[in-house]
Amino acid sequence: MNQKPVVTPLYALEANDLSVVLGGRKVLDIPSLQVLPNEVLVVIGPNGSGKTTFLLTLAALLKPATGTISYRGQAIGSGADMLKLRRRQAVVFQDPLLLNTTVWNNVTLGLRLRGVKGADAEQRTGRWLDRFGIASLAGRQAKTLSGGEAKRASLARAFVLQPEVLFLDEPFTGLDSPTRQSLIADFESVLRETKVTTVMVTHDSNEALALAHRVVVLMHGRIRQTGSPEEVFSYPVDEEVAGFVEVGNVLHGVVDSQGEGLASVNVKGRQVDAVSGLVAGSNVTLFLRQEDVTISLPQSRSAPSSARNQLAGKVDRVLPAGYQMRVTLDCGFPLVALITRRSWEELGLEVGREVTASFKASSVHLIPRQ
Ligand code: ADP
Repeated sequence: MNQKPVVTPLYALEANDLSVVLGGRKVLDIPSLQVLPNEVLVVIGPNGSGKTTFLLTLAALLKPATGTISYRGQAIGSGADMLKLRRRQAVVFQDPLLLNTTVWNNVTLGLRLRGVKGADAEQRTGRWLDRFGIASLAGRQAKTLSGGEAKRASLARAFVLQPEVLFLDEPFTGLDSPTRQSLIADFESVLRETKVTTVMVTHDSNEALALAHRVVVLMHGRIRQTGSPEEVFSYPVDEEVAGFVEVGNVLHGVVDSQGEGLASVNVKGRQVDAVSGLVAGSNVTLFLRQEDVTISLPQSRSAPSSARNQLAGKVDRVLPAGYQMRVTLDCGFPLVALITRRSWEELGLEVGREVTASFKASSVHLIPRQ
């Protein structure tokens, strides 16, 4: 018997020559974007940059003026395709938009609409309420939920559908910091477990850092930069992107040794000390604010410093940032320091110059990475 070869499409989602016109103005202009299967793609950009428009267009909820969107290699178009497509995707909006009924009903409704009933629906609904820590709220009326609980219900409602592609528009906005952090941590672990292809838009760089495999920076309706979080945050393409993504250094490493609350981390062959109880062998992400990195000349005979980390490096790149200079050093890995223009001048810095980067072990924030 002749068997058709199984061809796995290269991209989960692909957009080409996309443009969107709203109110007579072109608000989105995307020559091309591909989303890989199982990828978590986070689109970041300031307010008004076109993020929501982009997300709605990719999710086929907004018709572009020009361009095509392909879903697993097939261009989206006809009515029949649309229904099939809708059933393979889930969209989470900034406002949870819960119906005026119980949490359980809200989460299970989408399944019923897709013809999933009985024990299967019960089991799936229970599982996702539990996974998002709201099983005890199943019987509560949705309107009585706190902001964080409502967002959890909205995420459970999306995951219960087992979508092939998940779209999220600013899903963590409007929550206080601890609530947000714990929800992001739970969401991250669900993404890791389900490996669902995800497109999320947010104005918050930290969310991209916590979740993205790949980051797209959208500004004025155009893609300005695409890359790993490390690339985008350490090497923004220009001043405007740098100004927007202004976060700290993000590095990956492995804890080599641990002693009295001080972890020694191997980052690309260099040692970085951090105040942390994480044990040897832990894979970690290191966060270090740019303001906490100081630069000195290697031969300087200033008083001994209390900073435990003193790394030799070279000035690799510099971008003006207002009254300050954002200096990217090559220390075997990229390390960004924010220093005043005056320091830059007084130290006589220039690209290629050998320097020492210093920072305290207590300035390095470690989080475990799977
Ligand atoms: P973001 O999600 O990044 O804040 P949006 O996608 O909501 O950005 O908006 C992108 C641009 O399109 C903004 O300049 C906004 O004012 C404009 N816009 C959004 N919706 C409409 C509309 N219905 N009519 C006219 N302009 C719109």
